[in-house]
Amino acid sequence: MKKILVAGAGIGGLVAAANLAKNGFDVTLLEKQNRDSIGHDWLDTMLKSAFEESGIPCPDSSVFSPQHNVCFHNPNKSMSLTAPENTDNSAAYIDRKFLSAYLIDYAEKCGAELRFGVNIRKAVTKNSRIVGVETDTEVIDCDLLIDSAGLDSPARKSLPDESGVRKELKESEIFSAYRAYYENITDETSEPRYNIYFFHCGNGGMDWVIKEKGFTDILVGNFTPLNEQKIKAATEDFFKDYPNMGRKIVRGGYCAQIPLRRTLPVIVWNGYAAVGDSAVMVEPMSGSGISLSMKAGKILADTVTKAVDYSKESLWNYQYRYFNELGNSQLSSDIMKNCLASMTAEDIDYLFEKKILTNAELAAQGATKYTVTEFLAKGVNLCLRPRLIMPFIRAFASIAKIGKTLKLMPEEYSKEQIDIWAKEYEKL
Ligand SMILES: Cc1cc2nc3c(=O)[nH]c(=O)nc-3n(C[C@H](O)[C@H](O)[C@H](O)COP(=O)(O)OP(=O)(O)OC[C@H]3O[C@@H](n4cnc5c(N)ncnc54)[C@H](O)[C@@H]3O)c2cc1C
Repeated sequence: MKKILVAGAGIGGLVAAANLAKNGFDVTLLEKQNRDSIGHDWLDTMLKSAFEESGIPCPDSSVFSPQHNVCFHNPNKSMSLTAPENTDNSAAYIDRKFLSAYLIDYAEKCGAELRFGVNIRKAVTKNSRIVGVETDTEVIDCDLLIDSAGLDSPARKSLPDESGVRKELKESEIFSAYRAYYENITDETSEPRYNIYFFHCGNGGMDWVIKEKGFTDILVGNFTPLNEQKIKAATEDFFKDYPNMGRKIVRGGYCAQIPLRRTLPVIVWNGYAAVGDSAVMVEPMSGSGISLSMKAGKILADTVTKAVDYSKESLWNYQYRYFNELGNSQLSSDIMKNCLASMTAEDIDYLFEKKILTNAELAAQGATKYTVTEFLAKGVNLCLRPRLIMPFIRAFASIAKIGKTLKLMPEEYSKEQIDIWAKEYEKL
């Protein structure tokens, strides 16, 4: 029987492992951490429907808590925009420790073997194909390596250039975040509960404060690496603005990174497929990667179930389906993120004050319809600040080209056409 290795207990890899083991495949997952250490020490939002869509039974509704509607604050804190109440309940908070443990248990129940405390050093290549991994203690052979080892995956980083898979990300494509829950001084909470700050304390990027019962959830995030000074400045400012936030950290209290860009243009090779953060399956405006990774894990398992030899040709269907079913929305979001990231704090203040950026753009992330008057008003205000015009024109021109560019991706594997697709896709 063919042997499938999964590198890392990332969300998408666990979903793929469960679905493949369910279908009778020989699946072994190698994870460097201990079983109990896996999963972030906080709650994150995800789409509840992602469970059903990825072939995983949905846990009891008691594990989900409702997502608060968000309030955006401009850099000089003169204005705030509160999004309408979230009524559809499709997105909810879930404890990351619980989610990982739940998927691990389910993958095991389906028949996958999970080995913890195994550090993968690199993928092993032979005759233009991945044939195994090297760990700290041994070389383990496989017919297929599913790379679910996250942003810094040693498997992806050790692929040969001929694979065409991008190994490194630029610094500007990585969002560094400090996250901590601080115990509250009293039980009081007030609206708005979920507060997002752009250019907080003069640092490019985004911070948040979420006021929960019992604790305050802080995120300090930036596109440049964080240091203690930046974290201290941001948290001290929050202590001032949110006097109910005590100084005792009850969960989290560490930095982690999110790859914030569109999915890598090529995610499969001979004997190799990347899923989750390793392939950059993250919604670039919000940093959400759980639901995308889970759905991608299911698409990957479907492809592998039908694939003959795990060559790049037979794994291509995974990439093709992923981009066609899930990749489109991420592209417009990445283009808008890049447009906003090119601006200064003063520019963002102007966009808030002149109502060029409103809830419609921030909460709906670009999927917005305008009346003619609204559209003209935004256009006139943009023209009054000429240096803002070009980034928006470039962004809208790129968004208009998304459909055409996605069509460049060949349905069947073709090196020549993939090179053309990857070049045009990265240019958007
Ligand atoms: C602060 C923060 C907030 C976030 N908020 C949200 C949110 O609200 N909603 C949302 O959907 N997403 C959110 N995300 C993003 C989300 O965490 C990821 O996109 C998603 O979990 C997919 O990542 P992954 O599981 O592929 O990778 P990871 O979570 O990085 O998992 C990779 C696994 O591989 C293991 N591994 C790594 N190297 C090796 C090795 N050498 N050998 C063996 N094993 C290895 C790691 O130990 C880990 O278990 C957030 C991320 C951060 C950091």
